[in-house]
Amino acid sequence: LTERLESAFKQIKGEGRITELNIAATVKDIRRALVDADVNYKIAKEFTDKIKDEAMGQKVITAVSPGQLMVKIVKDELVALMGGSESELQSKGNPAVILIAGLQGSGKTTFSAKLANYLKTKKGLSPLLVAADIYRPAAIDQLKVLGEQIGVDVYSEPENKNAVQIAENAVKEARSKNKNVIIIDTAGRLAVDEQMMTEVANVKSAVKPNEILFVVDSMTGQDAVNTAKAFNDRLDFTGVVLTKLDGDTRGGAALSIKYTVEKPIKFVSSGEKMDTLDVFYPERMAQRILGMGDITTLVEKAQAQFDEEQAKKLEKKIRKNQFDLSDFKQQLEQIKKMGNIKDLLGMIPGVGKAVKDIDISDDAFKGIEALINSMTPEERANPDILDARRKTRIAKGAGKSMDELNGFLKQFEQMKNMMKMMNKMPMGRMGLGRR
Ligand code: GDP
Ligand code: MG
Repeated sequence: LTERLESAFKQIKGEGRITELNIAATVKDIRRALVDADVNYKIAKEFTDKIKDEAMGQKVITAVSPGQLMVKIVKDELVALMGGSESELQSKGNPAVILIAGLQGSGKTTFSAKLANYLKTKKGLSPLLVAADIYRPAAIDQLKVLGEQIGVDVYSEPENKNAVQIAENAVKEARSKNKNVIIIDTAGRLAVDEQMMTEVANVKSAVKPNEILFVVDSMTGQDAVNTAKAFNDRLDFTGVVLTKLDGDTRGGAALSIKYTVEKPIKFVSSGEKMDTLDVFYPERMAQRILGMGDITTLVEKAQAQFDEEQAKKLEKKIRKNQFDLSDFKQQLEQIKKMGNIKDLLGMIPGVGKAVKDIDISDDAFKGIEALINSMTPEERANPDILDARRKTRIAKGAGKSMDELNGFLKQFEQMKNMMKMMNKMPMGRMGLGRR
């Protein structure tokens, strides 16, 4: 029977095997997706050529087109290439030492604090942050401010211009204060430079870190490869941290770097808030790179915050296109807990670009809440009845202008349209079918 079905599919589709012909367009699409996602062009070409060779002649046995099968092959290859499964951070020692290196502005200081927060809250460790950027006095203050925010001590020696000494003293300090992990935030330069490299290398040999994490701004795209290579040649780092994934970037740097230096990506950081650090999941990054949207992360984030029951009710309403302003208001609190709403929307396939220009900043919430508060339940359920008289009353009650009210209503309409659009998408394509 299976065989009969198989040949039936072959007949229907007329493309039972992956051939040079039926795959050429797909290969091109995939390569373009990779380059769009900031994957180094040479790497993208090598990668797709290899995939093509592997895919050629494979039988298409299920109800998918060769193109779809090809995407799956590519995704699986991407996942394998970027590390297969997650890679744990080595944080055992007395104290464990984690050295942070990277260019200036890559996000080292921000990441150091996020990592301290993560180790403290998620792993129950007692971290000590070490300010070893000896060139910019402001760098010490920056780390102190962040340390205070997350309740983690910061070790610094403002007068000392010797990063190696500071690091060594920090280790002693950690022992005497019962801190079991120290995170050393180092100085960076705008470009790879000998003095910086020597300094970090010296710190490395002095304190023998358990982990050396190379921090790289994912938005630097193609350049990231060369920087990663230079740092790796010199430091032989243990892992990579990709920052600023909240931007437009689709994370192709992850692939290029892994391909070039063959070191695991351990964390991804997306935002300036202290809790926006995530362990790196190759599977999700592969989806992101291929433009399938990071649905898994989205679903997990939402699940962590949403009451299951409420979520179900909400989903029903969205499916029936009955999501109204009362629901919206109810969700605002939840959404605020989930982080930046734009980040979240951006993870939905096809929506990222649509929300780029819409202002849904966190600050906007306050005004929105005031506006919804000024509406009657009837108006919340059915914004269409809002005429000029009602609008004037609402805007006045909320202490907002007419423009602000109209602007918000327009945004709400856009959001509803987006939901309608998503409703029309087959679940499988959104990656939800697998769960
Ligand atoms: P350093 O010079 O390597 O220590 O970099 P910083 O930690 O000082 O970060 C440089 C700038 O990038 C700062 O303005 C940070 O607030 C910002 N930044 C760091 N990480 C992220 C991130 O993940 N997302 C965004 N949007 N900005 C970030
Ligand atoms: Mg810094």
